[in-house]
Amino acid sequence: MHDLFLHGTNSKGQPHTLAITDGLVSDFAENITGTAREEVDLGDAMILPGWIDAHVHFNEPGRADWEGLHTGSLAFAVGGGTTFIDMPLNSSPPVTTAEDFLKKRRIAEEKSHLDFALWGGLTPDSIPHLTAMAAEGAIGFKAFMCHSGLDEFPHADADTLRAGMSIAADLQLPVAVHAEIARDLPVRGTDMAAWLTSRPISFELEAITLAIGLAAETGCALHIVHVTCPEGIDLVTEAKSRGIDVTVETCPHYLLLTDTDAIRIGAAAKCAPPLRPASTVEALWQRLRDGFIDTIGSDHSPAPPEMKTGDDLFKIWGGIAGIQHGFPLLLDRSLDLLPQTSINPAKRFRLPGKGQLGPGYDADFTIVKKAPHPITADQLLTRHPISPYLGQTPTHQIQTTYLRGQKVTPSTKAHFIRPKTNTDQN
Ligand code: ZN
Repeated sequence: MHDLFLHGTNSKGQPHTLAITDGLVSDFAENITGTAREEVDLGDAMILPGWIDAHVHFNEPGRADWEGLHTGSLAFAVGGGTTFIDMPLNSSPPVTTAEDFLKKRRIAEEKSHLDFALWGGLTPDSIPHLTAMAAEGAIGFKAFMCHSGLDEFPHADADTLRAGMSIAADLQLPVAVHAEIARDLPVRGTDMAAWLTSRPISFELEAITLAIGLAAETGCALHIVHVTCPEGIDLVTEAKSRGIDVTVETCPHYLLLTDTDAIRIGAAAKCAPPLRPASTVEALWQRLRDGFIDTIGSDHSPAPPEMKTGDDLFKIWGGIAGIQHGFPLLLDRSLDLLPQTSINPAKRFRLPGKGQLGPGYDADFTIVKKAPHPITADQLLTRHPISPYLGQTPTHQIQTTYLRGQKVTPSTKAHFIRPKTNTDQN
C-alpha cells in the first residue's frame, strides 16, 4: 500500500501517476499497480522534479535584511524549487572557515523550508580552512576571479586558485568560479548602457580560459557559474573534449532578458556579468538546446531597495532577485530543461536522493499548471518586492511544491545535505 497517488502528466504531457511512500518516490509511470491510502487527480497538470538551484545568496547570517532563509526558501518553493545550495557570501561573516560554515548550517536548519547544501568560500585567507569545511560537509568551494562586490570576500588570483584547486582536487570537491577578469575600460557615463559596455564578453573568456587551464593542471573539478555567452560555453565544451572535468552554468536572466531589457528595467536588472544583446541570448539558447550547458542556477542575489535605486549604475548593488519566477518563465520557453534544472545539479554536486522522480529518490517535485498570470510586486514572497520580471505573464504557474512527499509550508523543516561519497548508494 502506497501513501499517495498523484495522477497528472509528465513534462511531455503524457498521463503519469506519481506513487509516494514514506516521503520517497515508489514509481512515476503511466500505469501503476497497487493501491494508495490517498489519490489526487491533478487533471492535465504536470508533475516535474523540483528545481535544484546550486547558486543562491540568501545572505544569512548577517544580512537577513537583504533576503533571509525563511523568505528566500519560501519564494523558491513557490517558484518550483525544492533544494538549494547557498553561496558563501553575502552572508556576514562569509563562509571561509568551518566555524562560519557550522554557524550558517545551524541557522539554515532552523529557518529554511527547503533542503539545502552549502558552498565554502575560496579566498586567499581560506586556503588553510578548506579541509575543515569539507569535513563539515561543504559541497565545494566558490571563488571570485574579480572583485566580489564585498571587500570581506576578496578575489582569488591565479596563485590562490591554483592552491585552492589542488586541495579541492585531493578532497574530490569541485571549485566554482565567478569567471570575469575585470579591467578598466574607457567608458563614458554611469547609466545602464555604460555599465553594459564596461563588462564585455572578453572579460569572461579570459577568466574561463585561465580557470580551465588551472583545472587541467590541478585535476580539480571546475564549475563555471553564470556564463552569459555562447563563446564561453564553447570554451567549456572544447575543454570537456580534452578530458577536463568542467561544467558550466547559466542563469534564467541570461536566457530571458537582453541588454535592451536592462536599459528599460534599470537597477533591478543590474548584474555581473551584465545582460547581453538578443543575438547572444539566442545563441545561448541554442547551446542549451544542444546540451552544452550543464546547469541552470538562479544566482538569486537580492539587496534592499535603497541599494537597488539610483542613477549611477556603477554604485548600485549588482544582483538579480528572480528566484520566484525564473523557473516558470523558462518553462514557457522549453519543457525540456529537466537535465539542467534538476538531474545535472544533483549529479554534479552529489546530492543523495535528489534530482529525479525515480524509485527510491526523495519525492521532491512541483505541480505546474497552464494558467497565465501577470507578475506583480504584491505576489513576491522575497524580502523585498524587487524583480526584473515584473509585468511579464508566465503561462506556467507553480501550483504546489512538495518536499520529501509533503507540501511545502512555512512550517516545513529543512534537511542539511552533505555530498555523498563514492561508496554511498543513490
Ligand atoms: Zn552569485
